[in-house]
Amino acid sequence: MVCLLDSIIPLGPAQRAAVKQIAETLGLPMLEPGWVWLAGAGPGDPGLASLHTIQAITNADAILADALANRELLAFARPGARIVEAGKRGGKPSRPQAAISRQTIGFARKGLRVLRLKGGDPFVFGRGGEEALALVRAGIPFRMVPGVTAGIGGIAYAGIPATHRDTNQAVTFITGTAGNGAAPDLDWEAIARGSPTIILYMARRHAAEIATRLIEAGRSPNEPAAVIGNASLQNQSSTITHLARLGVAASDADTPAILVIGENVRLSAGLDWIGAMAGRVLDADPLGRNRLSQSA
Ligand code: SAH
Repeated sequence: MVCLLDSIIPLGPAQRAAVKQIAETLGLPMLEPGWVWLAGAGPGDPGLASLHTIQAITNADAILADALANRELLAFARPGARIVEAGKRGGKPSRPQAAISRQTIGFARKGLRVLRLKGGDPFVFGRGGEEALALVRAGIPFRMVPGVTAGIGGIAYAGIPATHRDTNQAVTFITGTAGNGAAPDLDWEAIARGSPTIILYMARRHAAEIATRLIEAGRSPNEPAAVIGNASLQNQSSTITHLARLGVAASDADTPAILVIGENVRLSAGLDWIGAMAGRVLDADPLGRNRLSQSA
C-alpha cells in the first residue's frame, strides 16, 4: 500500500465546502458510509471528471486509485482519507484484482465511504464489471459513476470524432492485449469488413501485428490511422499516419496511447482545436468534399 497524498497538496475546507454546495444544489447523491462507488476519472484532463466523481473524492474515507486516474483530483480528498495505489498498468507489476476487491470490500465492511477510482470509464476495459460483481457477491451496496472514456473523449482532444456521418456510422472498441497476443479471440476479418472505424486500447505492443491482420483482411495500407499518447493531458502527443505505419507510430508513442484506424481520422486536419490554439490553421474541408464537388 502506498500513500499518494504526500505528493498532493490537499484543498482547504472552503474549497471542499464549495463542492458540497454544488452537489447539494443539484441534489446529487452523496457517498454514504458502507457504500462503494466505482467511478471513472476520465482520460486525464481533470476537467473531464464528473461532479459525482469529484463529490465522491471529497467525501470518501478510503480511495483506491488506479494508475491512470489523474492524481491532481486527489487534492479534493479529505485530510486523513486513506489513499491506496491500486494501479494496473500494462507491463508493470500490479496488485492482483482479487486483492483490490478484497480491500475494497474490507473498507466498506468497516463502514467507510469507499471510492474505487478508475481511469476513463470503469466499464470500458476497466474491469468495472468484475469489481462490481465482487461487491454484489459480498452484499455491499454500490453505485457506478461512468466516466469519459479515452476512446471517445481522449481522441476528441486530437480533433477526431468517434463517429462522423460522412466517414463512419459504426465504431468498434478493441483491447489489443486480450489473451497473449493481438486479441486472438477476435474475428479480424469480420472486424476489417464490418467496422469502418476501429479504436484500440492497450494496443501499443501489438499494433504492428493488428495492422498486418487488418491489411491481410482487406483494409488499405493507406487508410488513415492515429496514435494519441497522454490524450487530454498537457503532454498529449498525436501522430497522424496510415495503417501500414501504425506499428512504428505506436511504438514511438508515449503511454498511455489510444489508436484509431479509419477515415474519421482525416477530420483531425479540420478539428484539431488544441493545435488551433497553438496557431495551427484548420482545414474547413478535411474530407475534401467541397473541393470534389467544385471540380466535378
Ligand atoms: N477504462 C479506461 C481504459 C483502461 S485500459 C477508459 O475508459 O479510458 C488502459 C488503456 O486506455 C491504455 O492502454 C490506453 O490505450 C487507454 N488510455 C487511457 N487513458 C488514456 C490517455 N489519457 N491517453 C491515451 N490512451 C489512454
